[in-house]
Formats: sequence, structure tokens, C-alpha cells
Amino acid sequence: MSQALSPTAPLPSTAVTGTALVTTGHGGVEVMQLEQRVTPAPAPGEVRVRLRAAAFNHLDLWVRKGIPADHWPVPMVPCADGAGEIDAVGEGVPDVPHLRPGARVAVYPVLSCGHCTRCREAQPQLCRSFGLLGEHVDGCAQTYRNLPASQVLPLPEALSFEEGASMPTTFITAWHMLTDRARVQPGETVLVHGAGSGVGSAGVQVAKLLGARVIATVRRDRDELRAIELGADRVLRTDDGDWPRHARRACPGGVHVVFEHVGAATWDGSVRALQRGGRLVTCGATAGHEVTLNLRKIFFHSIEVLGSTMGTRREFERVLTLTAQGRLVPVVGAVRPLSEGAEAMTLLEDRAVFGKVVLQIP
Ligand code: ZN
Repeated sequence: MSQALSPTAPLPSTAVTGTALVTTGHGGVEVMQLEQRVTPAPAPGEVRVRLRAAAFNHLDLWVRKGIPADHWPVPMVPCADGAGEIDAVGEGVPDVPHLRPGARVAVYPVLSCGHCTRCREAQPQLCRSFGLLGEHVDGCAQTYRNLPASQVLPLPEALSFEEGASMPTTFITAWHMLTDRARVQPGETVLVHGAGSGVGSAGVQVAKLLGARVIATVRRDRDELRAIELGADRVLRTDDGDWPRHARRACPGGVHVVFEHVGAATWDGSVRALQRGGRLVTCGATAGHEVTLNLRKIFFHSIEVLGSTMGTRREFERVLTLTAQGRLVPVVGAVRPLSEGAEAMTLLEDRAVFGKVVLQIP
């Protein structure tokens, strides 16, 4: 039996229509298209987020390009990272301030099964079902997205939506790499590659916050000053092939920790820059993932090579708190409207900006 609603009755939570940027296939920027998307009412345990900003990561380029060795499903809405407001709330969602309609939130982009041993230990990045928004399921470059309530965190008032969207993947990753994995101690020297990249600009700040002395690498003159503003004590240019020697000169015996995310282009130098007992922590390989490794250096010098991917929800909470306190700073390099998403992606691809490329979702 149908039931008429009076014009003044509160509307039930219904489907809404919005716009999505979609990676429609593998190829150049021409595969990026805008599409209308209908988002249903949130399922039990979910909230619907009205996204206001989203940010690109290199992952979005890999999905678009479709690296042959990996399976990247398309069509896919890019952007693991996003921030916005709670638009609707599903049944069974706890009644807490950040899960009520209108609350400002940032998205925690990690997907996991939620019930395996790793998930119960709050280590979802080690779950066998680990995935990321924008890689395995649609990401945040769209007007509306239903998400499990556990995947949104309160966005501090001090942060704009653009700043909030710029932070999740890079700062969670950098924090996890330097604390949980590389165990950086005050007074140690950390070499952070690619200070002009999203994760590098986060790495410089996190290493500094942990009390380390930071040597940053950059690719061009205009990034040197920005790296120093973020806290780097010394800046090296990786187009100078002698940078590993300069690093060893700046920290006699070699650096304690190298923060790697570049891969093939820097790997050999990164290993050479380390001191005995040093740690190399890597979260990615934007310039190639095939490297050679001299095992004699690894065992004679007691080098640790540490892999790292993303981090925990609790680490994201910590990062947001430190940002609200002004102790970490979001690095937004460029802001473009969602309708210019394809062009914005080329800014990341060409490494044309210092920091993150953020999309505004009107
Ligand atoms: Zn799990």
C-alpha cells in the first residue's frame, strides 16, 4: 500500500544524482570522462558523504594507464582521498557527532575484510582483502559516495575540504613508514626523496616532527625553497648524480633512514647513502619497480629494507589531530574543479606542481 507524504513531512533518505569523474578505460587523459551517477540511500552501517573535494595519487595514473602486469579494473572513479559532509545516515550507524548529517568528514581510504586477525589487530593494511578506494572500488572524485561509517573521520574545523582531501593517503603512508616501519628516533638523519611530491612533502614534515634531521631531494630549483619551508635541513638535487655522496658527506658514515617512493631512478643511490645498520623504507616506485640489490651491502652493512603500504585509521586520526594543531601542514599544490579533472591529472603526471593536485566538487 502506498503512503502519501505531506509536503511538510521529512523526506526519507532516497537516491541522489551527482557527477563522477570516471576512468572509462586504459589510455591517455582522453579516457577520463564525466558521467551522471545515481547514489542510493546508504545501506545499514553506511553513511552517504556529499564530497566537496578529492585528491589524485599516482595510483590513479596507474589505473588509467593500465600497467600490463597488474589488473586494474575499469571503469573506475579515481581518488582514494576525499573530504565532504555527511549527507545521509544508514540504519545502525552510531549516533555520534561526526556521523550526523552535515558533519564535516575526511575519508579513510583503506578497504579490508574487517574480521580477520589482522583487521582485529587494527592492521587493515595487512588484511588479505586490503584495497583502496579508487583502485578496487570507486573513489572520491564524485558528488556522492556511500561508505562504511568506520571509513569517515571528523575533519577538524581548521582544515578546508581541499586541505582535508589532500591528506589521507600521503600523510597516513608517511606516518606509518617513519614511525611503525623505520622507527625514526630524535637526532637521526632521514633522507626523504621527492620533497615536491605528495608523499615526499608529508615525509619531510613527519620526519622533522619526530625530531630527525632531514635531507630532502628535489628535481628542480624552485622546489628547494619549498622543501626548506617544510622543514628540510638540507636539500639535494637528484639530477646531480653525486647526490648519494653529498648525503654521506652531510651525515658522516651515511644516513640512518632513507624514505623511498621513487624506485628504479634512486634505489641504488638510496642504498649507498645509508650508514651501517641503516633502514630503507619504501612505499612505492613511481619511477620503476625493477631494481638490483647488492646483497653483500645488505648483509655486511646490516641494512634493513622495509616495505610499507598505507597505515591504520588510528594513524590517520593522529595525523589529523597534529594538523589541526598546526604541527603538520597540508600541501595543496593545485585546485581544479571536477569538470577539469582530466586536465588536472596531467599536472600530476607532468610533476608540474609542488604537493597535491586537488579537485573541487561543486
Ligand atoms: Zn581483514
